[in-house]
Amino acid sequence: GALQEQSEKVWHLSNVMTNEPALRLAKTLRDHTFAERVFFANSGAEANEAAFKLARRYAWDHFGPDKHEIISFKNAFHGRTLFTVSVGGQQKYLEGFEPAPGGIHHADFNDLDSVKALISKEKTCAVVIEPIQGESGVVPADPEFLKGLRQLCDDNDALLIFDEVQTGVGRTGHLYAYEMYGVIPDILTSAKGLGGGFPVAAMLTTAKVGASLAVGTHGSTYGGNALACAVAQKVIDTVSQPEILKGVNERSEKLRQGMMAIGERYGIFSEVRGAGLLLGCVLTEQWKGRAKDFLAAGLEEGVMVLVAGADVVRLAPSLIIPETDIDEALERFETAVKKLAQ
Ligand SMILES: *Cc1c(COP(=O)(O)O)cnc(C)c1O
Repeated sequence: GALQEQSEKVWHLSNVMTNEPALRLAKTLRDHTFAERVFFANSGAEANEAAFKLARRYAWDHFGPDKHEIISFKNAFHGRTLFTVSVGGQQKYLEGFEPAPGGIHHADFNDLDSVKALISKEKTCAVVIEPIQGESGVVPADPEFLKGLRQLCDDNDALLIFDEVQTGVGRTGHLYAYEMYGVIPDILTSAKGLGGGFPVAAMLTTAKVGASLAVGTHGSTYGGNALACAVAQKVIDTVSQPEILKGVNERSEKLRQGMMAIGERYGIFSEVRGAGLLLGCVLTEQWKGRAKDFLAAGLEEGVMVLVAGADVVRLAPSLIIPETDIDEALERFETAVKKLAQ
């Protein structure tokens, strides 16, 4: 609908101009979040690239060139560009592409002391984190840990960046996961669900921080094009409705309980973690390393599950999946598990 409508008007304009869908979407994101400024890009990696560049540029503007270090976390995933695989905490994505950009350190997720050991007022420009680590196992940050990070960043004049490419746009039952934690970042990146299948991404920030990315310092040809923004507008207008977010939490409970029950019956899951409709079913000792087998067995029965690392079966269904589909998916998954466990 939104795509078709916009396709009959304007697709793209010269970057010397802006366009109405982009302005409208920026206003909507501003109204629904902490943000005062929005930068549009085409993918999650690009939004993160912009975030990391902004953090360095902001520190350069206000404190000088020595304050350029970025702290991120082991097992983090932030995208596939050279800067984002370097900030990401999985060596396998960097292998063969080195030398990596410098000044990047990796702390242990959910371990504030490991951040304290790396952070400094003179050198650290930003700490970047996924509120729930997605690719590496659906690992939620402890609320106290995120609050501690906020404090550490404030004490050290460092920016706090939330990569909400996976957790954003209703996925956790909140428009953005930072609301669930009550911890407000300085920069937030959003993609994936933002376009509902169309490539679009956004970097959200405050007016003070955003000022360091003035016209000419960073840019994108297609970022903020009219088609992408019209689609994302429809997505945000829909997903931000309280009934939709409430529905995510109800579906979450149903799915979580169903998976936990199957987990107990067959001794396959030790825990179902995550939030909203981003759930990670953690395999028991006996099944460790076999997440992919569950994906394959599920496909045989016509139900699609994802993996997050080798030890976690990840579920991330549509935010408006009918409850009857959840029932059917659970039945099919149980059939798949039964066959695997034989
Ligand atoms: C998927 C993902 C990205 C990368 O997004 P792309 O659109 O594939 O570039 C970055 N960060 C997180 C947390 C992701 O899950």
